Amino acid sequence: MDTRIVKIEEDNIDQTVLIRAGEIIKSGGLVAFPTETVYGLGGDALNGTSSRKIYAAKGRPSDNPLIVHIAKMEDLPRIARDIPKQALALAGKYWPGPLTMIFNKTECVPPETTGGLSTVAVRMPSNKIARALIEASGGYVAAPSANRSGRPSPTLAKYVAEDLDGRVDMIIDGGAAEIGLESTIVDFTEENPVILRPGYITEEMIRQAAGCPAGRKTVPGAGDGGEETEAPKAPGMKYRHYAPRGSLTIVEGKETRLVSAFICRELQGAKAEGKKTGVIATDETAAVYPADSVKSVGKRADEAEIAKSLFRILREFDDEEIQVIYAESFDVQGMGQAIMNRLLKAAGNHMVHV
Ligand code: AMP
Ligand code: MG
Repeated sequence: MDTRIVKIEEDNIDQTVLIRAGEIIKSGGLVAFPTETVYGLGGDALNGTSSRKIYAAKGRPSDNPLIVHIAKMEDLPRIARDIPKQALALAGKYWPGPLTMIFNKTECVPPETTGGLSTVAVRMPSNKIARALIEASGGYVAAPSANRSGRPSPTLAKYVAEDLDGRVDMIIDGGAAEIGLESTIVDFTEENPVILRPGYITEEMIRQAAGCPAGRKTVPGAGDGGEETEAPKAPGMKYRHYAPRGSLTIVEGKETRLVSAFICRELQGAKAEGKKTGVIATDETAAVYPADSVKSVGKRADEAEIAKSLFRILREFDDEEIQVIYAESFDVQGMGQAIMNRLLKAAGNHMVHV
């Protein structure tokens, strides 16, 4: 298949391209598009055949459900039932934005879109190109992240093209994703809301807006290919995720000085074996590492910048054919929780404590 790659500016959207993109989705095709979290791979959410095409293009297991993207609040009750007040309060505060909520689904959502589940994940993105595309396509766009299954989520269109060129009808290049990490997923089908995937919207923000505590679900064996001991609520969490091609180890410790010293020693060992090495560092430490490629995620205190850089950096190591990667670890408060969640999965849970 020929993939058309088109550039669009968020503040000056070319309507002819958007209408064409909407037609592709309406007729069962696939369009990759920018959102504020990461790039999405979109198809008609109400068409089971389109969803099957999404799984095939990504190489994604078909029991790992897709998120349905909407642009208007009126569309929510058409696809979701039993929507509690707390969810409406959260939507009022954080939609459009990086928040996905799970509800019982209505009849019109085909099982292919929900991985066979009776529940549906819904998000209203804020990126203007994403919103225009959803409107142009009739209202309901199923979209997982636009990467091949297992790879880091794409925050730039060039990484979408690397994974999906020839597998989708169109890629819309709208520049760098603003947030850089996937949405927070909150399950509203239990008595109390449960966070299935941490993200930019933190536990504390949910507690305040929804007026109720939000628990967190950790999935046994997540990211390391380990055995499942219970059916995961977020089926995606059981699969290997976000992985760079090189082996990635996270080094954690109370004192940054000791972490850096440990990484420096390990780098020497890897170099002696002739391996090409990389480090995920911060502005404060980047200068100390004798690696082939040292990448700073930004200042240690700037979580937004770290979130935005992480997936891009993992992809850049692949571009540079780095074989052995060490990462400093990050604080697990607030958004740091989402950052460490992705980093741990990218490392297959391989973390060393010093
Ligand atoms: P991605 O599209 O790559 O951001 O992945 C979508 C995530 O949403 C995956 O981790 C899915 O498992 C999760 N998800 C989508 N629909 C549901 C649902 N109905 N119940 C639980 N998790 C869901
Ligand atoms: Mg994904």
